[in-house]
Amino acid sequence: MKKNAADIWEDLKGQVDFLTEAGAGFVLKPVEDRSAAVPGRAQARDIRHRPPAFPSLPSLAGQAAQTAAERRALEEIDKQVLVCKLCPLHKLRTHAVPGEGNRSAGLMFIGEAPGRDEDAQGRPFIGRAGQLLRKIIAAMKFREDEVYITNIVKCRPPDNRVPHREEEEACSPYLIRQIELIRPRVIVTLGKTPTDYFVPGREGMTARRGNFGDYRGIPVMPTFHPSYLVRNEGNRELKRMVWEDMQKVMALLGGK
Ligand code: URA
Ligand code: SF4
Repeated sequence: MKKNAADIWEDLKGQVDFLTEAGAGFVLKPVEDRSAAVPGRAQARDIRHRPPAFPSLPSLAGQAAQTAAERRALEEIDKQVLVCKLCPLHKLRTHAVPGEGNRSAGLMFIGEAPGRDEDAQGRPFIGRAGQLLRKIIAAMKFREDEVYITNIVKCRPPDNRVPHREEEEACSPYLIRQIELIRPRVIVTLGKTPTDYFVPGREGMTARRGNFGDYRGIPVMPTFHPSYLVRNEGNRELKRMVWEDMQKVMALLGGK
């Protein structure tokens, strides 16, 4: 899809805004040439994978390219999600939110569940937190149509509460199938809910962020949820940490 000048300007502005807020300076250099960002020793240490948390499921790394049938299957999942009644959240929704972006993306962002704006429009991450996520994506020099954005639970929980375990269990097979079909090279989990699912751990997000986990051969980078950054707007350190995490993701994607 060709972008017009206004879109390109918006992308650029989002990128500059986020980098400025994240503390700029030191962050700018590694971003400039993604292809040259071969993981160095420090990064290699971080890329060390934990033992897989899903040993019985087949690895998704190094599989063949996506087929036309797989692309159709992804479209079919969206349709199923839109009419799904597998958990009680369907009763409260305006729209289910399957996800959006490139269905063969190398990079996938996974959030918790749709909020008010997302429920109203049927699109993921379009409220305030979503705008920040989209700035981060622009700062990583990705276009929105180059990544895939979705959530672990596809319908909005009342008052944006954390999804219940049963809701997560009912809904996560859609996400798992999306991952199996998209086969991204890297996954970013936003906040505790998706991080607990893909990289289970006892520590808080502050300790877990920035360290790659592994989901069936796919490196998973946990980072703070953008709504946490929005709620702590004055805290530059949080933005800096998210940006540090995203640089590791970029190094991994660019270094292959
Ligand atoms: N928060 C999320 O976790 N997901 C969205 O889609 C929007 C806000
Ligand atoms: Fe179905 Fe998921 Fe929506 Fe529950 S949250 S109704 S499982 S799509």
